[in-house]
Amino acid sequence: MASEEKSTAQISQRAELLDGARIADDIKREVAAEIAQLWRKPEQRPCLAAVRVGDDPASEVYVKNKIRACEEIGIRSEHHALPGSTTASELRELIGSLNARNEIDGILVQMPLPGGIDQAAIIETLNPAKDIDGFHPVNVGRLALGRPTFVPCTPAGIIELLTRSKIPIRGANACVVGRSQIVGRPMAQLLIQNDATVTICHSRTQDLKSVTTQADILVVAIGSPGLIRRDYIKSGATVIDVGMNKISDESVARALFGDEAERRLEIIKKRGYTLVGDVHPAEADEVAGRRTPVPGGVGLLTVAMLMRNTVKAARKRRL
Ligand code: NDP
Repeated sequence: MASEEKSTAQISQRAELLDGARIADDIKREVAAEIAQLWRKPEQRPCLAAVRVGDDPASEVYVKNKIRACEEIGIRSEHHALPGSTTASELRELIGSLNARNEIDGILVQMPLPGGIDQAAIIETLNPAKDIDGFHPVNVGRLALGRPTFVPCTPAGIIELLTRSKIPIRGANACVVGRSQIVGRPMAQLLIQNDATVTICHSRTQDLKSVTTQADILVVAIGSPGLIRRDYIKSGATVIDVGMNKISDESVARALFGDEAERRLEIIKKRGYTLVGDVHPAEADEVAGRRTPVPGGVGLLTVAMLMRNTVKAARKRRL
């Protein structure tokens, strides 16, 4: 192929977008069917208690979305919205009462908690059997040992996405960028359990590109808009973009979104911001084989997996 033709072919390449929305809907439908089959009477159905402290607007939206998903599929729910002045001991008391109530199957404590409350200490007060986020040390330990447990929802959703999209994990080189307790570390554990060869990167990794370009599956969870650019990505790789960052600058949006820029500028005009992941979408599309969009990718799967974990908790406790 002449070099001119080659460069045209490279530019016109476009990664396939993995449809997180469709897979999340499939999972929610399966969970709804299981609920209807196992618990005929609505008052016996699984019940999730969501606890939120303070008035962080993003947390409010996340909890609302989770409660709405519960309503859609037949999970009962309670929303405990506590003022920002709530003390750690008041919060522990509420969690203690939710732990003790037999009709509550799952408890979710929306993070972040206001400064001054030790998040790790609060998580330890949860009954591990009701810890549907999979953050309690007992569940983290069971995951590390490869034992059955509640798996954190975002990485569990990513494994569902890869599996249902028929992307081979066994034997693949996988790279996880980010080592947080809620995404990076459990993601790496799950990829190992699925027989991938896994490298974990973080802010102290030297020459990040030289590691990420080895990856057949690249999972990015750092919280830095568009950091992963074309030269970080192996040709044909599957790129899973966990990041959710708000941007409101129009020139930044133009640089990130390529063909989609006009639509995103409209969203910024209407809402004041648009969401972008940690991967540069326009550049990733030139190199990757597949990628998850933001929004419409991993975020929806996280909620679907929370629903699945709630039903699992109810099944284990009651059946
Ligand atoms: P954390 O802030 O807890 O962790 C970020 C990780 O990224 C850290 O391990 C940090 O390294 C690493 N990191 C930061 N900068 C760099 C860099 N330049 N190069 C390499 N590594 C870097 O974030 P979370 O894991 O909680 O979240 C990550 C992103 O995912 C956020 O945008 C968040 O909003 C989003 N998210 C989305 C979810 C969804 O459902 N879609 C669910 C959860 C999170 P170090 O450890 O060295 O500091």
